[in-house]
Amino acid sequence: MAEIVLSNVQKFFGAVQVIRDLNLTIADREFVVLLGPSGCGKTTTLRAIAGLEDISSGEIRIDGKPVQDLEASERDIAFVFQLYALYPHLTVFENIAFPLRAAGESKADVDRQVRVVASALDITHLLQKRPSALSGGDMQRVAIGRALVRRPKAILMDEPIGALDAKLREDMRSELKRLHIENKATSVYVTHDQVEAMSLADRIVVMSEGVLQQVGSPIEVYQNPANLFVAQFIGSPVMNIATARLETDGGAARLRVGDGGEAFAMPADLPARIAASGRGGEGISLGIRPEGVVVARQPMEGTVPLEAHIIEPLGAYDIVDLKVGSGVLRARTASGFVEKAGDTVFARLDATQTHFFDTKSGQSLA
Ligand code: ATP
Repeated sequence: MAEIVLSNVQKFFGAVQVIRDLNLTIADREFVVLLGPSGCGKTTTLRAIAGLEDISSGEIRIDGKPVQDLEASERDIAFVFQLYALYPHLTVFENIAFPLRAAGESKADVDRQVRVVASALDITHLLQKRPSALSGGDMQRVAIGRALVRRPKAILMDEPIGALDAKLREDMRSELKRLHIENKATSVYVTHDQVEAMSLADRIVVMSEGVLQQVGSPIEVYQNPANLFVAQFIGSPVMNIATARLETDGGAARLRVGDGGEAFAMPADLPARIAASGRGGEGISLGIRPEGVVVARQPMEGTVPLEAHIIEPLGAYDIVDLKVGSGVLRARTASGFVEKAGDTVFARLDATQTHFFDTKSGQSLA
């Protein structure tokens, strides 16, 4: 069992508060990713769990036991840093063996355990090499091997693959996922890369300015962002956000988007849904991902004509900026669907993909 529970955790550096009243339960064997922009407090949170940083108040429990007064070495937790932190004068074998030798394990046990971990990480052929002879990806495999070899209760990783190039990062991502499936160690992983978070996490913890914004499975935070921050931080290309005004005309509902923008047809029950969340038709923001902005070459029922402003061809699909009032809505289209900037297309909003937020508080409305 390695459940990690943070209760009312606060952290100040001098007068600056970098973790605000954090409550979080990480289940045994879960892979949790702390995600947020630089400076949001995710590394500090991870270091606090590890015992590398004191907390100012609150409680951290591992397996039900309060650990905030225990040294890092007494918490039975392994930490993998972004920079590999290997011992340069030791071979790969000796680097991985280091924690086992420090724990006084017998030579035969050390040998067996190093080989099991090296085989899982596919680095057996590197065991006699020194770190200076390894690529970045292999060095990080060794660092992960050293962390896993003691079979710690939990493994904490701080941007462990952030320094690798894009292709290697992708390979290592799948490898980390496979390792977790095989080992099932409780894992807490810090990154600012939302793609990494989406692909690795059982649950993502989105943080901003020391405040937990949302916790949920990758698909939950993608499909039901709790607020404007999460909506814009998760997903690439980013979700369109625009101020919007609800208009009703007879039984029909329309949404006027942006400043001086067009009005898009919406389901007739939308005003009632927004009203039920405590808002009228004003002060709301629309969120819609580019795949929810549907374009056609010919006018169709419910479409409005919009001018294409910029076309970004991304290979598998294009992202097209459509002028709406003084702003733009980004649409995802089939590759080459809109020929050139200046062309007019006919767009509608897929009502099943709309999100509404209180513009002032940023909180999701429905
Ligand atoms: P990054 O991805 O850049 O590491 P982060 O989200 O992990 O960012 P933290 O490293 O936890 O953020 O830092 C949170 C805030 O605390 C930042 O404003 C940082 O400057 C500040 N901070 C971190 N460590 C210290 C320290 N030892 N002394 C003073 N301030 C610190």
